[in-house]
Amino acid sequence: MKRTLLLAFLVALTLGAAGPPQTAAPKNQNIGPPSTGFPRTVRVRLWYLHRPATLKLSAAAGQARFRTCSTCKDIELTSVTLSASGTKLRLNAEKHTIAELRVSGIYQMKTAEGLAVPADFPLDITASEGRLLTTATMPMDEYIAGVLAGEVGNFKSDEALKAIAVAARTYAMHFGSRHAQEGFDFCDTTHCQDLRLSGMTSRMRQIAESTSGEVLWYEGRPAAAYYHANCGGTTEDGRILLTNDDGPAPYLKQHSDAYCVRNGVTQWQSEITKRDLQRALAADGITVPGTLRSVSVVQRTPSGRAETLRVAGASTISVSGVQFRSAVGRHLGWEKLKSNWYDLSVSGDRIVFHGRGSGHGVGLCQIGAEVMGEEGKTYQEILAYYYQGTKLGKSAQGIAWQKLTGENIELLTTRPDSDRMYLPIAARLTRDAQVNTGLTFTDIPQWEIYPNVAIFRDATGEPGWVAAATRGRTIQTQPAEVLKQAGTLESTLRHELLHMLIEAHAKPGTPVWFREGLVLYLSQPNVAAGSKSTFSNVSELEEAIRNPHGEAQLRQAYTDAHARVSRLAQQYGKQTLIDWVQEGLPTGVGH
Ligand SMILES: [Zn+2]
Ligand SMILES: [Zn+2]
Repeated sequence: MKRTLLLAFLVALTLGAAGPPQTAAPKNQNIGPPSTGFPRTVRVRLWYLHRPATLKLSAAAGQARFRTCSTCKDIELTSVTLSASGTKLRLNAEKHTIAELRVSGIYQMKTAEGLAVPADFPLDITASEGRLLTTATMPMDEYIAGVLAGEVGNFKSDEALKAIAVAARTYAMHFGSRHAQEGFDFCDTTHCQDLRLSGMTSRMRQIAESTSGEVLWYEGRPAAAYYHANCGGTTEDGRILLTNDDGPAPYLKQHSDAYCVRNGVTQWQSEITKRDLQRALAADGITVPGTLRSVSVVQRTPSGRAETLRVAGASTISVSGVQFRSAVGRHLGWEKLKSNWYDLSVSGDRIVFHGRGSGHGVGLCQIGAEVMGEEGKTYQEILAYYYQGTKLGKSAQGIAWQKLTGENIELLTTRPDSDRMYLPIAARLTRDAQVNTGLTFTDIPQWEIYPNVAIFRDATGEPGWVAAATRGRTIQTQPAEVLKQAGTLESTLRHELLHMLIEAHAKPGTPVWFREGLVLYLSQPNVAAGSKSTFSNVSELEEAIRNPHGEAQLRQAYTDAHARVSRLAQQYGKQTLIDWVQEGLPTGVGH
């Protein structure tokens, strides 16, 4: 499987100046909306609703490894059956139990009922109440490919799939980590987004990667990109789902959708007994006094969907259409009320529903998108049709950048008056970087100073503890005064400029730990080279730098890479290392 390495070289905000870490709490400076940015990977809880009691893991020889605690030794994975025993795990039929299992490499997993699922992402497994809690750490695009498989695996149009991939990525970024308190980002159900690993194909991966990083923006923030299966001919206004946290979302407005009715309106019919309905409502905390006698729609949204229902028992209560459908869906099955667009009648002990469409109707209509794609529309046109007024791009759109030009550097800022003072510093550091390495910039470096931490996170997808990220010739940083207060402005810029130089000249395939370590060594050559490594081998270090499990691990990895390269510099000299990065590492180096 192709795993694209994102060329985002990060520097932790607290990194930089030698000595003890400085606590530059950027969180307190969060002026904008809550964090919605995501790092390159997401943590997904698999089998969230139906947690398996056992799981079989298998791999071809030499392909995968596992360990039974974070500091335990790696063991080769060939075939193990894992079962939950209370809050512990049991491997095969062994007597003793373990608290967790971590798997890495290329392997297969299979539950008792399910199909074998090929996987190449790190997996953490623990147990609770005799069930396995399985968390996958996946690259964002792998997650998006799994969502496409879950939502629209049978779609024909690539353009429709690309549009849905962008919507799914935008949705994930807008709503952020919904399960942070449980220790992961997303579940694999429609609560977050429906993920189906078993249905993932190379086509889905290609679609996700072909739109990699693309997001819909509204006023510098990822849009609330709701989507649904079939609007039935008219989409719904976003207000039925939006909360205050979502911010203004004029792009989610009601409009007629000729595309999804090209082949006729999708209609459905269902029946629910009064008893079942009363039970489902009660299970969601909606109590109908006495015995449920009748139901009626008393108010409809402008699109015609049920907005408020009246449910009569011994007395009468009002229930919103959204709550009503969610209670029925969760407790009686989502096929009972496919949408909120229905007429209902009471017939004896049953309620009969006649409806159209499927899903809440807000945002992108999947069937409409498929028809648009089949009629030759591009994914950009599909997205513009369903999210009118949003901007498509890889970084936050709608920011009013102004360019300041200095000697060999360009500075992009929203506050030219206060940021102008940083131009000479940047110019000096640019010169220094060239002198230090003997390399020259092939493009003029560009420094984007984001107006606040929240927009930085949204635009770059990096967490708030990251000070800067470099992509191509652009260095993106948190506000300059935030870095200045942390005492890391110069060290951050120096680090990123050196990265840009090294990346521009690096031979493809040069390990990231070496490039990171070399940049750290060049910016701080006098740091002790002798510290003991926390990673048992170079491939572990490489993995930690590519997919860090949070700030602490990334900092550890940086320290380790820095020490390794410092040792190499003592042995071979700086110039040799700069040659290596351009020509490739000699075999045997760094083991
Ligand atoms: Zn969820
Ligand atoms: Zn539609």
